[in-house]
Amino acid sequence: MLSGANQAKEEKLKMRKIRVLIERDTLNKRTWDNLVPQIDTTTLGKFLEEVDREFPCMICQTRVDIPFTFPCGHNICQVRTHDTRP
Ligand SMILES: [Zn+2]
Repeated sequence: MLSGANQAKEEKLKMRKIRVLIERDTLNKRTWDNLVPQIDTTTLGKFLEEVDREFPCMICQTRVDIPFTFPCGHNICQVRTHDTRP
């Protein structure tokens, strides 16, 4: 099990990796610009909860499952079919 100090270190490392991914995601820049300032004031878990809330799939309205981003900035799941036929 990780000690408190190691856990904090691990979390910082994950945050740094997440920031790199966020910077690459230029299509969603506007949403990230609102979320990123929270990184330094919250835990990783809470930040990820916020990310889930800000990036719902436009079709199934749950957390987007491997997102596809349209040029307009809307995201949908790439992996779910959203087929509602019985
Ligand atoms: Zn979906």
